[in-house]
Amino acid sequence: MEVQVLMSESTNSSRSTDIPSTTIEEIDLDTLVRVDNLCKYYEDDRGLIDWALSRDPEKVRAVDGVSFEIKRGETLGVVGESGCGKSTLARTIMGLHQPTEGTVLFAGKNVAEQVKSDRKRFARRAQIVFQDPSSCLDPRLTLREIVREPLDIHKVGPKPHRNERVEELIERVGLATDQLDRYPSELSGGQRQRIGIARALALDPELLLLDEPTSALDVSVQAQILNLLQEIQEEYNLSYLFISHDLSVIRYLSDRVMVMYLGKIVEIAPSEVIFEEPAHPYTEILLSSTPSKKANIDGKQVRNADIPSPRNPPRGCRFHTRCPVVVPPDNHNVEFEQDEWLAVFDYKLRLRSGRLDTNKLTELVELQDNKTENQTNIKEVVRETCGIPQTLSDSTAEEVLDDSLSALADGDTETALECIAVDFESPCEKQNPPVMHISEGHHSACLRTENE
Ligand code: SF4
Repeated sequence: MEVQVLMSESTNSSRSTDIPSTTIEEIDLDTLVRVDNLCKYYEDDRGLIDWALSRDPEKVRAVDGVSFEIKRGETLGVVGESGCGKSTLARTIMGLHQPTEGTVLFAGKNVAEQVKSDRKRFARRAQIVFQDPSSCLDPRLTLREIVREPLDIHKVGPKPHRNERVEELIERVGLATDQLDRYPSELSGGQRQRIGIARALALDPELLLLDEPTSALDVSVQAQILNLLQEIQEEYNLSYLFISHDLSVIRYLSDRVMVMYLGKIVEIAPSEVIFEEPAHPYTEILLSSTPSKKANIDGKQVRNADIPSPRNPPRGCRFHTRCPVVVPPDNHNVEFEQDEWLAVFDYKLRLRSGRLDTNKLTELVELQDNKTENQTNIKEVVRETCGIPQTLSDSTAEEVLDDSLSALADGDTETALECIAVDFESPCEKQNPPVMHISEGHHSACLRTENE
């Protein structure tokens, strides 16, 4: 394999959750795209509270320090729940967004600089296909004009030959040339997506970024579009970054799969490895929600359905607020059974996020004149709400918890949190999990992987 030595253009060193790289990079010529520590943050307008507190608005960390490569001719699938940063990633690679930090190298050249100096030339080499083709097909143009437009803009070939090229492309994507004088509104969703693909192919690109290209289509049409994408990939030697939330579609098309959670890569591996031997708890849960797979983590699901906001992501491992196997405290004061630990941790997270409001709890129990009895009732309701047994098996843990519950029952949430701050702190809250190498091409960012 040919190897090219390039100087890294990234100066940022905070890459503890990235695929590791060195200062002087070796990039083989098979690599079409190299993303290094890419971050894309958005800033909201200042809200009233920001004005009142004279502070800057919090940044939305849509993509937060990701590194990976796309080889020539390969399909890299990107999967994750909505809001994990998949689409922002695609748009930043395309140069449609300026990165906040980090670099995207396309065939060894920095995309941000290329876009500035010669957007047209870069646009010929990389194209994007969107989920909803209607949004990028001008309804006033005929299909012929839509597919011909990029050829005219980029002055590709002599004018008389451009119509021939349009007809060739239309036929290649499975449409008849007698449809060329129709308008997008006269087509079905699948036909519109075929036009979107024909237009993307017009400039003979090397990379297609496919952003949920089949998710708006019926299942039978989806299969046809996937087959078409597979055929043209081979024919045109295309590389794909293929984004989808549908794991069966990802599995069908991808050579490698990258799993994203709240702007970070949590796992990346060859497709068969991700589906047969996932290492990260989040990947296991994603797979368990597909009908063909069973939950692997002792049948557990996410502990909390709410995805935290990328505006204020959890510290440490971003998945710790939902992870069903979050690591118990590593101090020697307390010892937990795993189920007890998860319940106690849930109590802590509810407390921290204000989801255990003493006023509401008081409404739940019958108000008594006797303060001690009332306090006991509140403590019982909290234990029941969080699934904590009446007595924890470790007596020290029980004592710490009881102090915290007593403070909560007195309406003092701050002290309730302080009581459990040290003894009930998971390493997953404290530490950004480093990326661990598991096997060839397989990396995962989880403290449990590190400890196994
Ligand atoms: S680091 Fe902890 S919270 Fe994060 S996935 Fe691993 S076990 Fe779960």
